[in-house]
Amino acid sequence: MEKSLKNLLREHGLVLKKAYGQNFLTDNLLLEEIVSKACVTKDDTVLEIGCGAGALTSVLSKKAKRVVGYEIDTRLKPVLNETLSDCDNVEIVFSDIMKQNLIDVEKKLGGEYIMVANLPYYITTPIIMRFIEEAKHLKAMVIMVQEEVAYRLSAKESTSDYGAITVGINLRGSAEVIIRVPRDKFTPPPNVDSAVVKIDIEKDKNSGVDFKRVRDLVRCAFSSRRKMLVNNIMSTYKMSRAEVEKALNESDISLTVRGENLSAEDYVRLVGNLPLI
Ligand code: SAM
Repeated sequence: MEKSLKNLLREHGLVLKKAYGQNFLTDNLLLEEIVSKACVTKDDTVLEIGCGAGALTSVLSKKAKRVVGYEIDTRLKPVLNETLSDCDNVEIVFSDIMKQNLIDVEKKLGGEYIMVANLPYYITTPIIMRFIEEAKHLKAMVIMVQEEVAYRLSAKESTSDYGAITVGINLRGSAEVIIRVPRDKFTPPPNVDSAVVKIDIEKDKNSGVDFKRVRDLVRCAFSSRRKMLVNNIMSTYKMSRAEVEKALNESDISLTVRGENLSAEDYVRLVGNLPLI
């Protein structure tokens, strides 16, 4: 960014809002690294969530064919008009992304796209889950999240970080931590370190699967994390032990596992052998 962020905000009389997770990036090398590792090319349309003062948006604009950004805070309009004045392939929608219909968002994007976002932490999980479950044309998500969340998104089975959100991601692709970002890279610095995670979506992976049913099963499996899966299923699905054991056998799953031991594929097989709830 040409002007320092502090000068820019002072000139526009803007005080950043904690409630919107307004911790902005200013390090140009880091911004370039994020966009480079996102593998954005001139053929790509990018969805950015939370444009802030436009630091990431302007780097994306140079590499992408088109950028569509969503920003909740209309006070940033004059700031973005200034910082993105020479970016004619950028369109900013001043709106809460959580209140948008994903079908409308994807219509605006007009085809396949990559999400690149320094996400406000308070909506990290709902954003990821919503796009994982509902997006039809998403190729990849490259997102800045709290470091501990990054480890959960990319965790391996049978580790303490592995959880419902990991399974959700693995149903459609896979996640990898690509950059670690210390808190002092942000203005103002948040209380925790962050990391950038790349989630690659595999086209058509589990396309016929009812994600809601799998989500309910996964939620049940992790509801009492230390309990064996058999017991969690018995209480949620109102089944006898023998019925659950039959379903596990038919799904080729050991009777003594816990939720954290199963892969996304195991959950997909198992849900097919359980009743609707
Ligand atoms: N992209 C900028 C950067 O990297 O410096 C800003 C990132 S800042 C962590 C998050 C941004 O998301 C803020 O500008 C905030 O106003 C915006 N935001 C917060 N909640 C939002 C929502 N529900 N929909 C759209 N934008 C949101």
